[in-house]
Amino acid sequence: MKTQEYIDLDEKYGAHNYHPLPVVLSKAKGVKVIDPEGKEYFDFLSAYSAVNQGHLHPKIVKAVRDQLDRVTLTSRAFHNDKMGMFLKKLCEFTGYEMALPMNTGAEAVETAIKAARRWGVEVKGVQNGKQEIICMEDNFHGRTLAAISMSSDPDSTVNYGPYAPGFIRVPYQDIKAIEKAVTPNTVAVILEPIQGEAGVVVPPEGYLKAVRALCDKNKMLFIADEVQTGFCRTGKRFAWEHENARPDIMCLGKALGGGVMPISAIVADHGVMKVFTPGTHGSTFGGNPLAGAVGIASLEVLEEGKLEENAERLGRIFRDEVAKIPCKKMVLVRGKGLLNAIVFEKGFEAWNVCLALRDAGLLAKQTHGNIIRFAPPLVINEKELREAIAIIRSVLEKI
Ligand SMILES: *Cc1c(COP(=O)(O)O)cnc(C)c1O
Repeated sequence: MKTQEYIDLDEKYGAHNYHPLPVVLSKAKGVKVIDPEGKEYFDFLSAYSAVNQGHLHPKIVKAVRDQLDRVTLTSRAFHNDKMGMFLKKLCEFTGYEMALPMNTGAEAVETAIKAARRWGVEVKGVQNGKQEIICMEDNFHGRTLAAISMSSDPDSTVNYGPYAPGFIRVPYQDIKAIEKAVTPNTVAVILEPIQGEAGVVVPPEGYLKAVRALCDKNKMLFIADEVQTGFCRTGKRFAWEHENARPDIMCLGKALGGGVMPISAIVADHGVMKVFTPGTHGSTFGGNPLAGAVGIASLEVLEEGKLEENAERLGRIFRDEVAKIPCKKMVLVRGKGLLNAIVFEKGFEAWNVCLALRDAGLLAKQTHGNIIRFAPPLVINEKELREAIAIIRSVLEKI
């Protein structure tokens, strides 16, 4: 079958809840993906940063193969011989005392919200039903009802009411706005340390530290949604490390699954995690042994490759070189590590640029019409990065 035939199938039988770039991928390796006609592309989306380790990393593939000969799913009704080792590894990697495994990023966010609400009642003494959580304009926390109840994006929320109550939304990067929104019932502040879907919005230096201090002062939990920014993407293991603003709860997902399967978790210390007692939260697939094996391998690959250092170094080259490209419509290039975006003039249709990049051999996706995010697998080397920049240059110069 050819590219167009696969696209036709998707259009006919799949709900139209996405508008993908017209390209079909049937194979992948490392930083490259291949279409049915055999054309190769640089993958500069990395499945929204779920493939930080590169496609089909041999160590992760081996972990899957080995585990497929043993056991894949037990449910949490029983223990399995992989989950504990996985969670120990995750706690060591993140520097937290405990972890709670789920599957998708949105579920990690739900888990964090439930933890914070319960903590609010049982530790802070807020009356149940009165808990408030402060969230940010232009956030992206996933697609569940609680996540979209925090969202300010009309596409995410349209006609999905009634929305979940208890979320107070304030402008991002505005510490005074958070301060004003605090009440005795506020149990947490939730934010992305860098807003990914909003177009890689990097808050000013000091913001995260100020949020941390405000949470301490008012006895609120600081929840960092690191689903996209985590696991070495921004040049540190986690984006909060840029300011040493350690959150009380981290939401993790995407690259935790090494590009192989959905694996997510929250991590926190005992004081927060103790609010979960048997029967009060769970997931059939959460903590399954296959995920355990994959999760361990995914973390080892990040560790052994020192991928945060690679992201930091190559990210600087990327921003320096792209900023030099003569392009009348480009306003700026911004980001941290290998999570970057080119912002074009307001009203400019970046979709056509993505099509031209595709034709030139590089896949990236626009967000909010005039912004394109560039986030290659973190295993990319300097030679590959410079090849990719040459492709981007060849396209941008012609605009
Ligand atoms: C992708 C993402 C999510 C949702 O993850 P899913 O696995 O798609 O549910 C949540 N938060 C952030 C910051 C994300 O980028």
